[in-house]
Amino acid sequence: MRTKPKFADSAEKVIEALALLQPRDNPIYLWPSIFRVLHCKEGCSWCCMRFTLDYIPEELALLSEAVRARFQPRKVQRKCIWTLDQYRLSGCPFLKEQGWGCSLYPLAPISCMMAPQIHISMDTRVNGVAIYAKRFSRPTAKGFAPCEFHVPEADAELRRELERNIVLWKRLHSWATYFGFDTVIPEVVRQLETTPAPRRTIEVYGGSGGIWGLLK
Ligand code: SF4
Ligand code: SF4
Repeated sequence: MRTKPKFADSAEKVIEALALLQPRDNPIYLWPSIFRVLHCKEGCSWCCMRFTLDYIPEELALLSEAVRARFQPRKVQRKCIWTLDQYRLSGCPFLKEQGWGCSLYPLAPISCMMAPQIHISMDTRVNGVAIYAKRFSRPTAKGFAPCEFHVPEADAELRRELERNIVLWKRLHSWATYFGFDTVIPEVVRQLETTPAPRRTIEVYGGSGGIWGLLK
């Protein structure tokens, strides 16, 4: 029987985020911070916390045979996902030798790809769900991270961040579909693909009546 501490399960955290993205009474806001450009620092691997690394079957199929062989099937919400209990190891086996950079990127597990640019949580300040980038990533308890961000200035840079985001949201949508969640993710993607000014906060889901649109 597989035993593990609950905190180490990244799939459950992704599912918790998907549950927040269901159309519901609370509004859902997309903050422009998700378009910040992240500058990761050489030698830092703080984002590579001890978690489970999880893939749904269609994601696993994109990986090499050698990588696939490291993953085991398990049931999450009655669905099969493929997991490596990375938290049991002394470090992530996919961290590059010099201890910086992920050898699976851009096909790293979705929880790794989301950190730190896409964070989804209930936010009492807006009485709704906020989607934003953290100041830094998973190891907030450490209080300091060497990464830096800048707001994209040139349109080309913003477009690049936008495209990266869209790829990630589509991947998150495949998780939602796989686990049977009806979410606002297609609308997030539509907004990202069509909005002329993504530097502003976007009200993705307005709650009462579902009002879509840009906020000034
Ligand atoms: S904490 Fe910052 S610098 Fe370190 S791995 Fe994460 S994003 Fe990169
Ligand atoms: S899979 Fe990549 S990003 Fe995720 S913990 Fe391992 S090295 Fe870090």
